[in-house]
Amino acid sequence: GKRAFIAGVADDNGYGWAIAKALAAAGAEMLVGTWVPALNIFETSLRRGKFDESRKLPDGSLMDIVKVYPLDVVYDSPDDVPEDVKSNKRYAGSSHWTVKEVVESVKNDFGSIDILVHSLANGPEVTKPLLETSRRGYLAAISASSYSYVSLLQHFLPIMNPGGASISLTYIASERAVPGYGGGMSSAKAALESDTRVLAFEAGRKGEIRVNTISAGPLGSRAAKAIGF
Ligand code: NAD
Repeated sequence: GKRAFIAGVADDNGYGWAIAKALAAAGAEMLVGTWVPALNIFETSLRRGKFDESRKLPDGSLMDIVKVYPLDVVYDSPDDVPEDVKSNKRYAGSSHWTVKEVVESVKNDFGSIDILVHSLANGPEVTKPLLETSRRGYLAAISASSYSYVSLLQHFLPIMNPGGASISLTYIASERAVPGYGGGMSSAKAALESDTRVLAFEAGRKGEIRVNTISAGPLGSRAAKAIGF
């Protein structure tokens, strides 16, 4: 069977969860990466059976998430983490959540993966029009939503089995002006799409890994509701 790592699952409402279910239904083993601040509530909810109804697969069995890794994709290695984040209660409560460390943990635990899914985005100023977006907000959107994919693929590639696949989720606001999708998120999706073409070329040659992105339609996920979509 195939093993998949899905970055960006913190509840049962988003695309990451739906993709996990589809892959699990097809027989894949499921590992997920959950944003550190959301880890506690996600794991607690899982354990208490809050997601049992939505864990149901077409054959009646429940999707098994083999392991949940705490993850923050804006940090590549421990050296990148600022003091205030390190000492933050929610972050200090878990460890090994930078991209490099998560990949090391997955390697130690399972050796390799076949499928990498990037289902995450973050834009602290998403509710602001681009015209009112700060440099800091714009760069934060790019860091969390675009470079995060470069970093994940860069680190996972060496432990991805040849013939594997990687996918991310984009949004049409990269190509057409969509009012309300601000803060540099439209820019971040444009970067993600361009990077997909370049990474497909590079990862195809380097590791026989396919790289694609899907431009998804509107879904009432936590992230989408936060911007009133
Ligand atoms: P979601 O809230 O389910 O997923 C976003 C996830 O990103 C959350 O789990 C959040 O915890 C995580 N995250 C944020 N910052 C992070 C960080 N620094 N490190 C690790 N994780 C972090 O919402 P969703 O809408 O399902 O989003 C999944 C993907 O789908 C995103 O790329 C989004 O842009 C894309 N998308 C969504 C829609 C939509 O309408 N919902 C449409 C097109 C594309």
